[in-house]
Amino acid sequence: AYHRRSLGAMLRHWADVAAERPAIGVVDGRSHTFGSWFRRSSRIACGLDDLGIGAGDTVGFIGKDAVVWGEVLVAASYVRAAGVPFNWRLSRREMSETVADAAPSVTVVESAFLPLVGHDDPGDGVTRVLVGDAAPIAYDVWVEGLRGFELEVTSEPGDVAMIVYTSGTSGQAKGVELPNRAIAANIGSSAPWDIKPGDTVMIPAPLFHVSGTGWLFYCLGIGAEALYTTDIKPSAVLDVLAGGAVDHALTVPAVVHMLVSHPDARGREYPNLRTLIYGGSPMAPTTARDAMTIFGCDLVQSYGMTETCGPITFLTPNDHRAGGARLAAAGRAVPGVELVIADPVDGAVCPPGVTGEVRTRSALIMSGYRNQPDELAEVLTPDGWFRTGDAGYVDDDGYLYLCDRIKDMIVSGGENIYPVEVENVLLEHPQVLEAAVIGVPDEKWGETVKAVVVVRGSLDPGELTAFCRERLAHYKCPTSIDLRDELPRNPSGKILKRELRKVYWSQHPRSIA
Ligand code: ATP
Ligand code: MG
Repeated sequence: AYHRRSLGAMLRHWADVAAERPAIGVVDGRSHTFGSWFRRSSRIACGLDDLGIGAGDTVGFIGKDAVVWGEVLVAASYVRAAGVPFNWRLSRREMSETVADAAPSVTVVESAFLPLVGHDDPGDGVTRVLVGDAAPIAYDVWVEGLRGFELEVTSEPGDVAMIVYTSGTSGQAKGVELPNRAIAANIGSSAPWDIKPGDTVMIPAPLFHVSGTGWLFYCLGIGAEALYTTDIKPSAVLDVLAGGAVDHALTVPAVVHMLVSHPDARGREYPNLRTLIYGGSPMAPTTARDAMTIFGCDLVQSYGMTETCGPITFLTPNDHRAGGARLAAAGRAVPGVELVIADPVDGAVCPPGVTGEVRTRSALIMSGYRNQPDELAEVLTPDGWFRTGDAGYVDDDGYLYLCDRIKDMIVSGGENIYPVEVENVLLEHPQVLEAAVIGVPDEKWGETVKAVVVVRGSLDPGELTAFCRERLAHYKCPTSIDLRDELPRNPSGKILKRELRKVYWSQHPRSIA
């Protein structure tokens, strides 16, 4: 649709046809109709224009208030600049590296996060605007002082609308450039839910990952109201969902888990809630079952990544109702999205049941990584397939099962070994509490399998090796097992394999310098 050619065009469209309809809001905070959002973003766009900001420039945001982010993001679109939602969980040093990479001309920063960018927090809770080296200005004061102007939407499909940084799970976070074209394709692709204009969609997820911020542009494109929270407190989210004003909720597995395990979750009604959509990381099937029982609504799982601007597979409400082994799948390809499993080394297509790298091709793919043209060449094949870096297989019906990250795959004597398979066997041993399997350098095989495990009581590694030998092909069995008190994890609980690997590869003379 023509009105979806840019974020600015979408907002203008809805301001024209449904000015008084609720568009964006924060629970217990500010909100906009499409009309008031449009007027505010137009005014800010004028301010950006006065500063000479235009195509190719970036406008940053560090904060939790989705209404402010929405204003800034669309304003950037009107001058053909890209909005960048920074991760406020970063350390000062990581933030300064990321800000240097994105190089925003203007950054809107919530008071509490000013120290992350080298300013004192005045402690007044007032959001500030940073322009160049000038002292921070109060955001509302800045906006009120701007002239309004009659704007003409000039954005092109190839303009970068947003830069979203990846989660940095497998290495350095990369700035993914999402063009208008990919965003329009995301909004236009058919999906197993019925989010309609006028619906209210609650999005308890942070704004700096695509799993939270992508739904903002989705709702804007559809003409639905996006309702965010500044703090994702399970009891408060449950109250809103039970209040009857929310039609759909979109969030990440960690939040779903928090919600279903909260004592307030059970024994109440969620009257108008029709769909709960989750994705962005794996979720235990038991959590999905609990969510279906508690909320009594449809469940949809999405699998995607920053580079694909959102979902590339869906596990539908029917798949969830059918239950069984399918609950462990990530679903089937979104219509219009191509998906194959390829041998990670030679790229040959793997038949059903055989694990390889998930590759995808569609209009949803990013235009590139900020300041890293070589990285793009690494992940895009010459015929346009994006290498997701995820390992998985499809079954005979086209359902995708994710196994691991390709970077975690071990190649030993020419055989590909997926650590999860080995870890699952180790975890079958009653004394093994946690297990991580990595490849370590080996003179003869290139790499060999090492297991790092946390055990209950005392356990002879030789016994564990014998346990694996009974259950796994010889080449998959750990050739060494280290016992540890704990495994390195990131704040969301993912085991940091790169940390584990570092030790073994740096001690090695042929370490990957
Ligand atoms: P980096 O690319 O910096 O290493 P990241 O890949 O974790 O970090 P994101 O783009 O935020 O950064 O996350 C996308 C990844 O999340 C996918 O590649 C996949 O590994 C995982 N993921 C997303 N959805 C699902 C899902 N439904 N089930 C399992 N894993 C998922
Ligand atoms: Mg990634």
